[in-house]
Amino acid sequence: MSDFDYDLFIIGAGSGGVRASRIASSHGARVAVAEEYRVGGTCVIRGCVPKKMLVYGSMFAEELSHAGNYGWTIEGKSFDWKVLRDFVNADVDRLEGLYGKTLENNRVEKYLERATVTGPNSVKLASGKEITAKYILVAVGGWPAMPDIPGVEHCISSNEVFHLEEQPKRLLVVGGGYIAMEFAGVFNALGSEVTVINRSETILRGYDRGVVERLSEIAQARGIQFKLNANIRSVTKQADGSLLADLGGETIEADQILIATGRKPNTAGLGLETAGIKLGVKGEVPVDQYNRTSCPSIYAVGDVTDRVQLTPVAIREGHAFADTVFGNKPRIVEYDHIPSAVFSQPPLAGVGLTEEQARREYPNVKVYKSDFRPMKNLFSPNAERGLYRMIVDEDTNKVLGIHMVGPEAPEILQVAAIAVKAGLTKADFDATVALHPSMAEELVLLN
Ligand code: NDP
Repeated sequence: MSDFDYDLFIIGAGSGGVRASRIASSHGARVAVAEEYRVGGTCVIRGCVPKKMLVYGSMFAEELSHAGNYGWTIEGKSFDWKVLRDFVNADVDRLEGLYGKTLENNRVEKYLERATVTGPNSVKLASGKEITAKYILVAVGGWPAMPDIPGVEHCISSNEVFHLEEQPKRLLVVGGGYIAMEFAGVFNALGSEVTVINRSETILRGYDRGVVERLSEIAQARGIQFKLNANIRSVTKQADGSLLADLGGETIEADQILIATGRKPNTAGLGLETAGIKLGVKGEVPVDQYNRTSCPSIYAVGDVTDRVQLTPVAIREGHAFADTVFGNKPRIVEYDHIPSAVFSQPPLAGVGLTEEQARREYPNVKVYKSDFRPMKNLFSPNAERGLYRMIVDEDTNKVLGIHMVGPEAPEILQVAAIAVKAGLTKADFDATVALHPSMAEELVLLN
């Protein structure tokens, strides 16, 4: 019998923590997890899942506006934010229940309260209970980074956007990353007046410039206003309840201001210093490739480590940790060729090197592209064109990256990512017969 209460104590029941708990338990470990808010974490409770449902809900606007040319008359159509919001939140409740069941089915004990580290092998719960464990896994995720400006308390983050009492008539979005572009798309489609302000000229930094520029043109044509090289200085609440954002020399009135300027690791007050762990500059927990901190009994996975802030990555890290420490199968996560997508409207997705990155690493790079009007748009007033770009090393013919913007881009890219990860060549794509008529066929017809 071990001297510890548990073999593994996990702080945070999000994507990484839940996966690690289940796998460690399957390897025979006695596992407990503490969660201070709701089981499921950012992705399930206030991120990927409810966001995607809002995207689906908002896309009906476009479908309905196209329906006329396809022969449909829809009388009296209207949209009720509260119906969509409540449906989404009810499904989040359902998923939270399923995640709780997963823990139970895998004999993982859960403590629904905050836990802090008190030493290399001990934690303390908010209720005062002290618990010892042979290993501790920190999987507390991240939290929206709010700017330190007067009036920030009147603004919302992506945490609150799912619970708004009313749909804002005017929404100001601060930031030009994933969250900014996704919610700008949702509320624009739902009929809100949306303005995005970003501190630089570059939105969606890290994505291929060609596809980002196309998205930006489409977003503007759909009515989203952009103010680039702009920053918010302060926010005042006016007598009628509306908000006034001061950009320094210019003001913008809005009903809600969504701050989406990144997320920071959730380590404040977590007590990691009691185990000798020094946090990084952003508050992240530094780890090695086995997710091990500087304290041999403490590991960390997911957003709290500030490596790649994506759910499937946190899940892989949690799984690899559990296999390594409890399954006698040391494993590391590969961080190359991680596909990712922005669920903007239309969505954008990419895998591998962008053109800019490829040109820095390879002497001879060729970019193949397809710039096409999706068939779905032909019957509609919508003249939007999709754009696929394939980045190829001319010397080896190897596909280094694929980047796309257009309907269903993430669905198509996931499959294309297998080919890029496998190191296939442009000739392999060309040798594949097109599936006609589809948008995906553009990938094997590129020139
Ligand atoms: P992002 O890192 O994607 O974007 C942050 C944006 O805010 C950038 O435009 C950035 O500009 C700007 N910014 C950063 N700091 C400041 C500042 N101090 N003042 C003004 N502007 C600033 O963050 P998000 O909040 O959108 O999302 C957080 C993370 O969550 C993402 O990185 C992603 O990993 C994950 N996520 C993934 C999604 C998906 O997979 N579809 C969806 C939503 C979130 P600059 O580029 O100049 O730094």
